[in-house]
Amino acid sequence: MPGTSTAPRILVVGGGYVGLYTSLQLLKKLQKGEAAVTVVEPRSYMTYQPFLPEAAAGSIDPRHVVVPLRRTLKGAEVIAGEVVSVNHAERTARIQPVDGEEYDLPYDIVVMAPGSVARTLPIPGVAEQAIGFKTVEEAIFLRDKLLRNLDLAEASKDEAFRRRVLTFTFVGGGYAGIEALAELEDLSRYVTQSLRTVRHSDVRFVLVEALDRILPEVGPEMGRYAVDELRERGIEVNLKTTLQSCEGGLVKLSDGQEFESDTIVWTAGVKSHPVLERTDLPLDERKRLRVGADLRVTNEDGSVVEGAWGAGDACAVPDLTKPGQFCAPNAQHAVREAKQLGENLVAVLRGAQTTPYRHAYAGSVASLGLHKGVAQVYGVKLKGYPAWMMHRVYHLSRVPTTSRKVGVLLDWAQAAIFRREIVSLSAQSTPFAEFERAAGVKQVSGSRG
Ligand SMILES: Cc1cc2nc3c(=O)[nH]c(=O)nc-3n(C[C@H](O)[C@H](O)[C@H](O)COP(=O)(O)OP(=O)(O)OC[C@H]3O[C@@H](n4cnc5c(N)ncnc54)[C@H](O)[C@@H]3O)c2cc1C
Repeated sequence: MPGTSTAPRILVVGGGYVGLYTSLQLLKKLQKGEAAVTVVEPRSYMTYQPFLPEAAAGSIDPRHVVVPLRRTLKGAEVIAGEVVSVNHAERTARIQPVDGEEYDLPYDIVVMAPGSVARTLPIPGVAEQAIGFKTVEEAIFLRDKLLRNLDLAEASKDEAFRRRVLTFTFVGGGYAGIEALAELEDLSRYVTQSLRTVRHSDVRFVLVEALDRILPEVGPEMGRYAVDELRERGIEVNLKTTLQSCEGGLVKLSDGQEFESDTIVWTAGVKSHPVLERTDLPLDERKRLRVGADLRVTNEDGSVVEGAWGAGDACAVPDLTKPGQFCAPNAQHAVREAKQLGENLVAVLRGAQTTPYRHAYAGSVASLGLHKGVAQVYGVKLKGYPAWMMHRVYHLSRVPTTSRKVGVLLDWAQAAIFRREIVSLSAQSTPFAEFERAAGVKQVSGSRG
């Protein structure tokens, strides 16, 4: 077999939900020398995305929403880099390490788990002005930006400038967008209590959603409740409305509204990762990796592509509980698929039968800020405090590793006793500025390297 002289190499592309949980399952099930696991991931950590909104709101330390891969995947090789392309016919992947030259990595079995990227549209200004909400870096940036903009407005007497920096626009009403919007609005409400010139009513949060509902994950009734709850808080919820352009921060909506907004967050859905198009593996019409119910990659005619597996947001995984449909791109499926994938892969290595992945979507919980939430789980609908509590308990039980669970719990306890942190560390993006000024540098750059 190519790749190694002894054990076959299993290459896992991506160290997110699927990458982490598949690797954990493999490390647990594989016997010594049966196979070696190599994970390639540009970040050296897995991100627990459902906690990003709370990290943005300052209720959780951002370090506690990420899980270090090397420490968690003892026994696996973790390569900090990106898979640029995969030639499965040759069983090689082209790797771009975080530093250094590209090289070819031979493997025997590949697990494709690169997840998804933001589904953007060619709307003028979006690429230049907007930011996504999928990474811990984006969550930290948005939190710092909100706090910084409140500071800027507090210090300014220019009304137009104040209106611009105090306007936050979110495009897309799925759980990522709604939770981020609701948590940040909640944070702004808290921070303005200690400001002198900026009142909470001066801060404008605008949601733009093309459909006539938000949070489809919690069903229509709870989605309507969430709209009412957000509107009661003064958030402008624009349904059946689209973003037409946002060049230079001037937001133009399909209903004719126009306003300046310094912060535009794009959370209007995801699409499978474009790296899939740089492989010779079969994709469907939406560019998702074709996989069968047992998570082996399959050709269009259903035949198995030997040695190739995939799961998660990047893949079209048949939903056996809804014939003809595919599993939605969410963590609930990703974690379970990953465990099944790991088991099936080991079964195939040992010449045993695979088991098809089957899970009926249980529903969802979403936080709408501190003590506020909405949920529909196994048909049970909850709102307000009970839903928020359920959100916390559920995600605490799900965040990987004991150290992260303890960290999150302590963060919550600390925030409950001492209130949340409201300091912006946005100056960390220009750490050299202070020293350059002290050294008399004429044009302070603030950032180098
Ligand atoms: C803000 C937010 C909140 C969410 N809340 C919920 C929730 O409450 N409930 C729920 O069920 N789902 C939730 N989700 C969705 C859930 O997080 C995703 O469905 C899940 O992460 C998908 O897992 P994955 O492994 O397919 O992708 P990911 O977890 O995104 O992992 C993909 C990994 O692959 C890496 N990668 C990408 N390209 C390459 C490459 N070329 N080479 C190597 N590595 C690569 C990426 O860096 C990433 O780490 C949320 C998502 C977001 C953004």
